[in-house]
Amino acid sequence: MEANELWLWLVPVALLPVFFAMGWFAARVDMKAVLKQAKSIPGGFYTALDALVDKHSGRAADNLAEVIAARADDAETRRLSLTLGKLYRQRGQNDKAIVLHQKLLSSPDTVGLEQAQTRFELGQDYQAAGLVDRAEQIFLELQHSEMASAAQQMLLNIYQQDRDWEKAIELAQALRHGDQSYQFEIAQFYCERAQTALFQSRPEEAEALAREALAVNRKCTRANLILADAAYKQGRYQDAIDACHAIEKQNHEYLGMAAERLYDAYDALGRAEAGLAVLVGYAKTFPDLDLHNVIYEKSLLINGEAQAAQTVTELVRQKPDLAGVYRLLGVHIGDTDPARRADMDMMRAVVGRQMQKAVMYRCRHCHFKSQAYFWHCPACNKWETFTPNRIEI
Ligand SMILES: [Zn+2]
Repeated sequence: MEANELWLWLVPVALLPVFFAMGWFAARVDMKAVLKQAKSIPGGFYTALDALVDKHSGRAADNLAEVIAARADDAETRRLSLTLGKLYRQRGQNDKAIVLHQKLLSSPDTVGLEQAQTRFELGQDYQAAGLVDRAEQIFLELQHSEMASAAQQMLLNIYQQDRDWEKAIELAQALRHGDQSYQFEIAQFYCERAQTALFQSRPEEAEALAREALAVNRKCTRANLILADAAYKQGRYQDAIDACHAIEKQNHEYLGMAAERLYDAYDALGRAEAGLAVLVGYAKTFPDLDLHNVIYEKSLLINGEAQAAQTVTELVRQKPDLAGVYRLLGVHIGDTDPARRADMDMMRAVVGRQMQKAVMYRCRHCHFKSQAYFWHCPACNKWETFTPNRIEI
């Protein structure tokens, strides 16, 4: 081997450590670049996050707005802006959210999915601001975008808010897929229409709509309550009784709501005592039903005070509770020694006050409590979540 050839071999070998060193430096430079990038997240971002954790959403929004103002208009900045818009809306600053989202939409870079998401946010801003027509328009336009499903859900909420049950039925039927059948909701929408028809003295139409409700959800007790009312209004008392009894097979907890109508239908057929016997039978079989008051009142009409008191006393003894004790104090106040009557009145008033606070209907979903029963929870907007009988809270 000549000296020149030897050099050709030796030079690369001698340079090996240099190559290693260059690689090591290159790696160091990359790491530094990454760290530098990480450090480029503005301090305001962390301040905003911290304020959010501390539930100071106003401060968080101000910090986030400062961060956005200092950044270039790129995709990440626009994403941050969407978050800021949500924060504004959550804080009730709907005007600020609207301006922000409109500005984002005016950017020529906001296209495709990003544009659909921003429009969806703007629709929610309008809805929160009470501009429901504009919100509806946006959600309707989004039905053919990537946000279609979410937009349809928002539309369904709007139709329920507006009590536009026909549109709600149509949309909920279109939304049905897989496990999400919307059967409770659709049946209730039909019931809402049926109830309106009943109030407006159109019992035949109410009946037809209640049957539609049952076709969608055969467990819909409200449909049978409406059928009973509609049949009663048309003088078909046996049909009214049958509709009330059908509730027992669907869900006996709702029988308390049918009690008055059931008794009235029996009474109209000249069988008031049989009607009362059915109610007493229900109360004995299902002690949780809220039936004491109606049984006492009807028994008073048929059998007089002593027998009514005896019947209701037996029922309360079977399952003593606050409402029952209140009823019993009322029942027995008449036969109390006049000297102690004032005390009895006082005790009854105290129990009554306590009952007002502690015996209520309650939403099983969000625990909203009320003295009135709601088919549609005003707090969480769920259907059929209220306990059908008042309970001790
Ligand atoms: Zn609720």
